Amino acid sequence: MAKIKHSKGLMVEETVIDASVTSLKKKNFIITHAHSDHAKISSSKEKTFFLTPETKALIETRNKKEFNSSEIPFGKKFSLDGKEFEFFFSGHILGSSQIKVNSGEIVFTSDFRLSDSVLFEGAKVLQAETLVIESTYGKPEFVFPKRKQIYEQIEAWGRKELKENNLLVLGGYSIGKAQELTKISNAFFNEVPLVHQTVFGPNNVYKEKGVKLGKFELLNHNLKEFNVLIIPPHLLNLDLIHAIEISSGRKVSPAVFSGWNSFAGAKTFPLSDHADFNDLLKYVEFSGAKNVLTHHGFAKEFASFIKRRLGINARALSEDSQSSLLDF
Ligand SMILES: [Zn+2]
Ligand SMILES: [Zn+2]
Repeated sequence: MAKIKHSKGLMVEETVIDASVTSLKKKNFIITHAHSDHAKISSSKEKTFFLTPETKALIETRNKKEFNSSEIPFGKKFSLDGKEFEFFFSGHILGSSQIKVNSGEIVFTSDFRLSDSVLFEGAKVLQAETLVIESTYGKPEFVFPKRKQIYEQIEAWGRKELKENNLLVLGGYSIGKAQELTKISNAFFNEVPLVHQTVFGPNNVYKEKGVKLGKFELLNHNLKEFNVLIIPPHLLNLDLIHAIEISSGRKVSPAVFSGWNSFAGAKTFPLSDHADFNDLLKYVEFSGAKNVLTHHGFAKEFASFIKRRLGINARALSEDSQSSLLDF
C-alpha cells in the first residue's frame, strides 16, 4: 500500500497534492482545482505542476507568474513516481478533479459535490480501496435542502426585490459561485449582471471553455444602468451597501450564497459547492472503500461517524481547522 500523509499538502509517497507551501523538496505537484488554498504554485524549474487545462486557465486569471506545468485532461492516465494517476471531474468548480491512483487503490476526492447545478452535473462516485475524502461538512447538522428547492427560493426572492426596484447585490466566491450567480441572474431574473473584476476573469474562462453563463459586464462606474451586482462575499458589508445605496439612489437587497457563511442584514442561501453531510456519507458507502481518511473541516468528527455508523475503518488525516478553509 502506498503511504499517504498530510504534511503541508496531501502526499502519496513522493507526489504532493494541493501543497500548502511549494518550498517542499519534491518534484511532482498535483493541483486539484483553482481555489487559492489548493493551488499554490512556484516558478522553480525543478518542480512540475500537474493540473487540468481548465484549472490552469483559472489560476492564470489571478496569477501571471510562469510555472512549469503539465496539463492533463479528464480521463487521461499519467504516471508519476511509479504510480498511475487519472483525473475525474469532482463537480466542485470548472476543471476540479478527483484523483484515482493505480486504478482505485487510492481515490482522493478533493473538494467535491454530488448534486447537479445550473452549470454542471455532479461528481461520479469512484470505486476505491482507500478513500481520502474531504469533510468540510462532516457533521450531521450540515444537511442542505435540494439545490432545485434553493434555486426556487432564490428566484422568488430576486424577482420580488427587482419588482420593488431594488438593486440586488449577490456575494459569491469569485471562482465557482460567482459563475453560478451569473447564470442565475440571466436565467432566473432575465438580468445581465455587473461583475466585480475578480469575477470577470473567471467568468471569461468559463465562457471560453464552453460553459453557458449568459451575459455579464465588468463593474466600472456603470452601476446605475444595471439591477444585479455580483461581488466576492468578503467585500459585502454594511459600509459597502450604504455606499452603493447613496451612489445609486436605490435600496440594495444583499444576499450571500454559501453553506457556511452568513452575514447580518443579508439574505443567506445555502448554495454550496461542497457535498453536504448526507452526500459525504453516500460517497463513502458507494465507493466500497475499506479504509477512509478524512481531511478538511470536521475531519475527526466525520471519521468517527463513519466508524460508528458504517463500520468502516476511518481516521482523520490532519488536524486542519475550519478556519484554514478559504472556499466554502
Ligand atoms: Zn475548493
Ligand atoms: Zn477546499
